[in-house]
Amino acid sequence: MNTRPKINTLQLPGFEPSVADTIDSVQPFRVEVLRSKRRKSTVGAQLIGGVLHITVPSWMSRIEEAEWVEKMSASFRRQLSTDRIDLRARALALSRRHDLPRPREIRWDDAMTARWATCTLDTGAIRISTRLAAFPNWVIDYVIVHELCHMEVAGHGPDFWQLVNRYPKAERAVGYLIAKSGERDGDEFADADFSA
Ligand SMILES: [Zn+2]
Repeated sequence: MNTRPKINTLQLPGFEPSVADTIDSVQPFRVEVLRSKRRKSTVGAQLIGGVLHITVPSWMSRIEEAEWVEKMSASFRRQLSTDRIDLRARALALSRRHDLPRPREIRWDDAMTARWATCTLDTGAIRISTRLAAFPNWVIDYVIVHELCHMEVAGHGPDFWQLVNRYPKAERAVGYLIAKSGERDGDEFADADFSA
């Protein structure tokens, strides 16, 4: 329970897995769990030299422990993943490649949990949910392209989708995001939207 295969995929910029293959299946660190009698109610986690040390109260069931390990690991994977991605460089490259407007500003947003991304048309600022950082690059690129397209077309009409489809993996990425947001709602773009 306290170890996972140590596979480091963070240095693979061209990494393009199949749709079914998500970064959730890999872990850029090893996990060690400590059951502590001193710890009463909270779970602690600390990443030290490639090992995520998770401390759980000793009364906790193995099932609960496994849930916490997954939760903590996912959170640390996301944090580590944002470091590997230069959002600005990616956005500029994508706007050049697909002939789209350039954002004035683009950055990660930790607080954004109900949407994948937003684009504020007044300011040309794009925010990308930190949750996306753990997804494959081609999905992140799709979300960036989606928001860049909103700088040209506000709604989700046919004009909009025609622009979005300049990105060759748009359809696959939409499928991926629907699967990922399935637990909350079935509406594909409750998550990636714009605000004017
Ligand atoms: Zn949208």
